[in-house]
Amino acid sequence: MSSSKDLDRDVKRSNDDSNIGQYSLDGKPVRCPHCNGAHFKSDEAQLNTAFATLLDLDWTNKSATILICNSCSQIQWFGTRPSRIP
Ligand SMILES: [Zn+2]
Repeated sequence: MSSSKDLDRDVKRSNDDSNIGQYSLDGKPVRCPHCNGAHFKSDEAQLNTAFATLLDLDWTNKSATILICNSCSQIQWFGTRPSRIP
């Protein structure tokens, strides 16, 4: 497992997007379930679409936060917006 120093070095603002960061939810840091990465690009997604209907998410019918893993691009969906770790 990488130390936090190694992870910090991986995230350079010189790359495409300064929107990449670490996030926490419910007091726990968000990790990627696939590669265990800790850095994500955050975005918003509307749920009131055919896609939401397909996933039986009509009960939300609003926007969700998605975090895209900066390492492997795995996408996680959150009904509650995770807090960005400064
Ligand atoms: Zn990942």
